[in-house]
This record gives sequence, structure tokens and C-alpha cells, in this order.
Amino acid sequence: MDYEYIFEDVIVKESNAPRFLLNGEEVDIWDNRFQKYHSKSVVDYIREKLLEYEKKKIDLFPEIVGKKAEKEMVKTALLSGSNILFKGRKGYGKTTFSKAIAKLLPEKILAIKGCKIHDDPTRPVCFSCKRKILEKNEVELTFIPRKWIRIAGDPMMTTRQLIGGISIQKIKEGYDLDHPEVFTPGRVLKAHRGIAYFDELGAIPSALQTLLHELIEEKQITTPEGDIVPMKIDIIAIASTNPANYKGVADIKEPLLDRMEQIDIGPPETIDEEIEIGLRNMNLKRGPVIPEWHLKILAGTVRCMRSKKCRHANRIEVEPSCRATIKLFDHVRASAMRNMRESVMFKDYGDNFENVKLALKSRIGLDYEEEITKDEVIVSVLNDTIDLVCSEIYALIPRDVFKPMIDEIANLKVIDVYKSLENGYVSAFAATLCKSDAELLSAVEITLEAIARCTGLLERKGVGIYEYTGYNRQ
Ligand SMILES: [Zn+2]
Repeated sequence: MDYEYIFEDVIVKESNAPRFLLNGEEVDIWDNRFQKYHSKSVVDYIREKLLEYEKKKIDLFPEIVGKKAEKEMVKTALLSGSNILFKGRKGYGKTTFSKAIAKLLPEKILAIKGCKIHDDPTRPVCFSCKRKILEKNEVELTFIPRKWIRIAGDPMMTTRQLIGGISIQKIKEGYDLDHPEVFTPGRVLKAHRGIAYFDELGAIPSALQTLLHELIEEKQITTPEGDIVPMKIDIIAIASTNPANYKGVADIKEPLLDRMEQIDIGPPETIDEEIEIGLRNMNLKRGPVIPEWHLKILAGTVRCMRSKKCRHANRIEVEPSCRATIKLFDHVRASAMRNMRESVMFKDYGDNFENVKLALKSRIGLDYEEEITKDEVIVSVLNDTIDLVCSEIYALIPRDVFKPMIDEIANLKVIDVYKSLENGYVSAFAATLCKSDAELLSAVEITLEAIARCTGLLERKGVGIYEYTGYNRQ
């Protein structure tokens, strides 16, 4: 059997094309209706979309919050046809970014029906399709959705899993090209005509990284038997890696690094971005309102743990990512939901901040835990952040309202924010903090908490219970 065309490039033009069938009907793929779904490379498609959006001044990556400079670098890299390496800790949006890039591809493209790697009808790369195109009068086509294939870095990964099995020997022995023992594509080949996302590229064994480099750069694969197969697969490789010296992460080989543009992805720059990311990615999209002050306290706690300004920063070895913020928002909303509250209150942090610990404990790491526990660090940082947000609220209380507010509180002696809400100075001020009526109880609570923390005229006696203690001071 003649297998020589395996090594040849096959390019189909209108003049030498077989009859193409789509859903059983003959189609002219060079017709306007189909032209944009074939013959173009991944880079071509992305380049076109990029320029079109730039012209119309449309944000190419609306799903990414902030990250202006990083977005610009991604655009430049893509336009110049480069592969990209995102470097940064877990949970800062590397995967989201790679998916956003895949969205620049057309929603669907034409492929040869039955092809294991969804070959382009005009540029088949697999042996089976090359033969079909060269030998058959009719070739069936199908539409396939855009591709984003995640390839998880795994030190145990085999060549078969990554590249696939290609046996020239079996072909020489006369096996049919469609026979599973002749060609089984691995993850990378399955990403043909799409985005291959290498999650933790450094964790891929170095021998395989060499193969990958060969595939990306030379567009050919050397089989374990030593045969060189020109598998000209068309992908953009997007990879992610953690910063160096991070636990359990191997290095990326030099030649492979040299084929990628590195873009660092760090935590959100501002608390507003942090909150936006948290809200967008929550599991509980709907439910009780999380008022601004609670968003600030929760996101602020996470950011405090990351910052070098935080009291315990030197003890925190693994910093919480945006996932901590997302889960904090989820947990307090879940608690408010279970308790049929319209809006989140301090009670939703848990009587001993259990819900806050729930979101943070698995996401932070301390250098060593003998002297101080994670629980202690969490409670201490949370309290510092509540202090901070409370002093902002306190500063908003107008001077001429402060005295009547305190008189009102003194009169009531004990205030249970869940019960004894009266129309008065406290609730009138609290109302100015609210975006909706649903937030009022929570606003009264944060107002009392702010007065308690900033003046000492009040004392918190339990969650939601404040007692006037100003007498003691006189
Ligand atoms: Zn094929």
C-alpha cells in the first residue's frame, strides 16, 4: 500500500476539490455562506476579530475585570501570532483569560465529518482525511463548535495522552488508516483548529515538553519508532504557570519558553475590582443583598492578607486568591438566605466568624502554626478590616446629627437591631447609606458597630445587640 501522501501537504482549491456534502446536500464551500468557516488558521481568525473590534472600540475581553495593561499585551501577542504563557498564582484569572481568547474564534467552523481532529476540508492534516480528499469523489462535512481544550499538566502524563498514538509501522503493515491502532489523537491534536490551554505547563514531563516544542515550532512529530510525521496542526498554545519556587511545580524547558510570550497575572489592583470579580463569579447569583460595607469588609480582609501592610502578613505564606473573595460572598449570602434575611448582617459571618473561616482556612497557608493558628489570624485580620470600614462609616455621620443619635441610643439603653428599630436619628442616618430598603437593618447595624468601635459609647453585647455604656464614662 502506498502511504507516501502521509508526508505530503494536501491543499484543496476550488479547482481540485471533491464534491462536498453537508447534511446530505452538496455545498459550494467557496460560496459566501461558507467561505468564512474554512481555510483560515486560528491566528487568522483571531487577528481578524481583533482588528474588527479595535476599529469599533469594543472591549475584546469583557469577562476580565481590570487588567488593562495585561489585556493590551495579550492583544499585541495575538496579533503577532504568538503563543502566550500566563504566569501567576492560582485564582487570579489565568484560565478565564484563556477562555476569553478562545471566544475570539468563530462560534463554529466546517470540518471533515468523522475526522478525529476535525480537519479543515481544504487543509487536511490527518492521514485518513488526506486519503479521503485525494481519493474520494464525495466528502462529507459537518460544523463543529469553537474549541478550547484544557490540557492539565501532570508529571505522569504519557506521550499517548499528550500527542497520541501514530504508528507508521502499522500503516506499513497494511492497516487501514482509520484503524484505532494506527492513529489515536492525544489532547494536543484534539485542540487542532482551536486553543490548547496548558494548565501548569511546567508539570508536563520534560521529554514531552520537547515533543511539544517540536510540534508547535516545526509542525512535526517524531514517533517513538523514530518516524518523523509532518502533522501540521493549527493551534494557539496558551499556557499557565505558577511563580518559580512555588511548591511542586517543575520548570518549563528553555526552548519551549522561547516560543511563548510571558504575561504576569497578579491579584486585582483595586478593592472595587476585587468586589466586581467576587460578585460576577459567585455561585449564588441571586439572593439576599450584600451591602457595600460587607463587600468591603470581606474583600478587604482577603486583600489585607495579601498586602505587606497587614499585621500578620509575614506569617501568611500562601495568600488567598480571588476564590476566597468569591466564596466569602457566597457563604454570607447563603447564611442570610437560610435565615430568611433580606440582606447580609454580621450574624451571617457566624457567631464566631465560622463562615469567614470556612472560606479562608483552606486558602491560606502560614509559615508554621505553633504560635498562632489560622483561626486567630483570620479573626484578627477580619477585626482590623471591620475597624477600617467602621471608621469610614463613622466619618460619614454629620456632626449635628451625632448628638441626637447618641441621646436616642442612651434612651433605648439596649438596642436589638433585629427588633427595636425605630424611626429616629439612627435609622435616618442609616438610610443614607442604603442603596435599597432591603439594606436598612444591616445599615443600622453597621452604624451602631461603627459608633461602638470608634467612640466606646456603645458596647456590642452579642451579634446585633448593642448597649449604651456612655454613662460609665461620665
Ligand atoms: Zn482528519
